[in-house]
Amino acid sequence: MKTKLLLVLFTLASQVFFAQQRTCGVDQAMQLIMNDPIQRAAYLEGQARFEEEYQRLLTNFNRNGNAINSTNEVTRIPIAVHYTTSSADLATATSGVNLVLRNCLIALAQTQINILNADYNANNSDLVLWTDPSTGASQYFPDVTVGNMDIQFELATQNHPAGSGLVEGQPAVTFGYNFGSGQNLDANWAGYFNIIIRNLGGGTLGFSPLGPQLSGYGVTIDNNSFSSGTGCTGTGSGGINPTSPFNKGRTLTHEMGHYFRLDHTFVSCDGTNCATSGDRVCDTPTTSTPTYGCPAADSTYDANCVGDLVQTMNYMDYVDDACMYLFTAGQATRMTAWLNTVRSQIKQNSLSNDAFVKNNFSIYPNPNKGEFTIQFKELLADYAVEVFDVTGRVVFEKTYNQNSELLQNIVIQNPTSGVYFVNIKSGNSIITNKIIVE
Ligand SMILES: [Zn+2]
Repeated sequence: MKTKLLLVLFTLASQVFFAQQRTCGVDQAMQLIMNDPIQRAAYLEGQARFEEEYQRLLTNFNRNGNAINSTNEVTRIPIAVHYTTSSADLATATSGVNLVLRNCLIALAQTQINILNADYNANNSDLVLWTDPSTGASQYFPDVTVGNMDIQFELATQNHPAGSGLVEGQPAVTFGYNFGSGQNLDANWAGYFNIIIRNLGGGTLGFSPLGPQLSGYGVTIDNNSFSSGTGCTGTGSGGINPTSPFNKGRTLTHEMGHYFRLDHTFVSCDGTNCATSGDRVCDTPTTSTPTYGCPAADSTYDANCVGDLVQTMNYMDYVDDACMYLFTAGQATRMTAWLNTVRSQIKQNSLSNDAFVKNNFSIYPNPNKGEFTIQFKELLADYAVEVFDVTGRVVFEKTYNQNSELLQNIVIQNPTSGVYFVNIKSGNSIITNKIIVE
């Protein structure tokens, strides 16, 4: 009896354990493309151009990835977010709980995009776990340089696809739209980097094709692994709830890596030629085994392969969100090669030319006590700031001209603790951020 009970407990414990492991469906996503003759042909043609460009970058430039972006211009990437599980009513709400949910979901999307921008430009605050002179993991990987893509992900706001119902200036966030009729390819959304939120179930956190053409493919993320923070869980929201240990937005960082044509770091033991075998990146150690959980940086050696110390903190491994914090320069080179081959397909007219969108701004501190700062890098136009609470009540409103100070201090009168939304408007564009007042 006792043994049986122990067995039941063990079974339950292992199910919980496995339920908390990262699983990625990249292979299934590729299978769908390969099973369709038309998609397959287009994909293979794109791959041939990618391989040529990758070899060109490896031959002509420093293999560590420096100087690969010869223009030194930041590449702007238009994002569209599709909350397929939410109620379509949110899209047209002008007041009440649906308006609050819509703003919450838009802010959640912006939070996720901020995470992508930090991770792809090596601006993530936890990169200190690598760089710290005394304790950082870089000491165990002396030949590895951190990768930096010089790209900016932005929610698209202009020239939305016909029939989308989106209003000019509003962000490209859809609610209850059945993207691709349930598939991950929707020609209406060609030229965008589509993020699709679904309830994947079965433990899969997300999936993406490997370096697709921009013909409307998306990256799919489970509704419990998208973005970071407190989530949006009211009736009609679709239950978008970032859940530990995958609640720091890194599932999208990982899946977007596949979109940029990166393989898993643990794809094969074959280390004969790092440029043509394994993950085909030379500054990621050879391993065939995914790492789970949150191991110490110097603790995981792959005995099944050549015994290398595994780079478990790489975004393309399977560790928890809090324990992955870098791409390598070699991976950045590979991603740049793919980006170069699809650059002309990016729908650039979907992006705002307004100053506050083109130039990153930050809001800090967050959480705060009802007083915070908005800091702009540069101002090229007039703008307005509007702060409202979860009931939709406006608690702060002010317009600023282009010659205003780059730092603006905002004070909410008599704040109560809770979630607030900060809208920053300029021209016909609007960006919504969420703050928490303690
Ligand atoms: Zn993956």
